[in-house]
Amino acid sequence: MSSLHYGSNMINRDNNLTQLVPVPALSDNYIWLLCKGKHAVVVDPGVAEPIEKLLAQYHLTLDAILLTHHHNDHVGGAVALKNLSGAKVYGPLGETLPVCDVRLKEDDSITLDTLDLTLSILDIPGHTAGHIAYFGYLDTGKPVVFCGDTLFAAGCGRLFEGTPAQMVESLGKLKALPLETLVCCAHEYTLANLRWALQVEPGNTALQQRWQTAQQQRSEGLPTLPSTIGAELDTNPFCRPLQQSVSSAAAAYAGAPLTSAVAVFASLREWKNNF
Ligand code: ZN
Ligand code: FE
Repeated sequence: MSSLHYGSNMINRDNNLTQLVPVPALSDNYIWLLCKGKHAVVVDPGVAEPIEKLLAQYHLTLDAILLTHHHNDHVGGAVALKNLSGAKVYGPLGETLPVCDVRLKEDDSITLDTLDLTLSILDIPGHTAGHIAYFGYLDTGKPVVFCGDTLFAAGCGRLFEGTPAQMVESLGKLKALPLETLVCCAHEYTLANLRWALQVEPGNTALQQRWQTAQQQRSEGLPTLPSTIGAELDTNPFCRPLQQSVSSAAAAYAGAPLTSAVAVFASLREWKNNF
């Protein structure tokens, strides 16, 4: 409850620019809430209840629900929120979803009029076969990406329905976004990911600093998100397979020389799975 209270404290209905709020849900999910004036949009509502409370408390109208992939901790609240609000539901073309009005694939774009926000779609398979991301520029000028369970702060999603090669390509699309892009991923896994990343790259000073910052944030009950693409490029081993420090650590873990980004990635993913 204390963390939900934090989420609700973030909302100021008098702000005339879009606010981006990570609403804690389930054990470690965030449902991203965008709001501007009396209008709101949510991303990956695994449950409806915390969003229903915020909509009621702030008299917000839910206009749209964005889904990144089919896992229940991302879509479980979509039907209830749709029934409550009539919001339009957007989701990936290639996945089975409990509700979806508009099916999306790479190079599609959607415009959310009430937020003055246009989002373009990236296909980012690997965690699931049809996983998509939504990228665009908020009215604050900040680029933002909603990447579900593909790129995490200092980590990445497990490969439930894809291959290392697919995930490397998907992460490559995210890595190509502007460095200042706000990375809005769907789980608070940051401390566990950083603990592992420090085993991979103990000498990375940016990583050491990030560990200190994240520990402080969590000790105050604050989210460590959003991250940025720049921070991930500097500190996330999965985004740095060709850095000498990362590839040699991955080779040591595998017990064999690794000659490609995909081979390094596969070793890192295995290492993290067993960490
Ligand atoms: Zn998932
Ligand atoms: Fe998830």
